[in-house]
Amino acid sequence: MSTQTRVRTARKLHRCDRWCDECTRWVEPGDRYVEHTEFPSGDAALATNGRPVHLAECRPCAEHSGRGDLFVPVTEGTETHAQ
Ligand SMILES: [Zn+2]
Repeated sequence: MSTQTRVRTARKLHRCDRWCDECTRWVEPGDRYVEHTEFPSGDAALATNGRPVHLAECRPCAEHSGRGDLFVPVTEGTETHAQ
């Protein structure tokens, strides 16, 4: 599988590239979103010019697609759950 999926924090405005929904949301700077990277050897045939293709998926779309758990490991500060 030559697709990489990871959560990133936007540094610039991204249009949600959600491909099977008509999502009109934008990912704004500072928002967390899912970045899908399709490498040229991938089978989705998106990376046709020999370079990786990046697709942005906004958080509501990701959660709708069952990828909401990607957002869970947020480590802000040093929150502990020690008892
Ligand atoms: Zn979206």
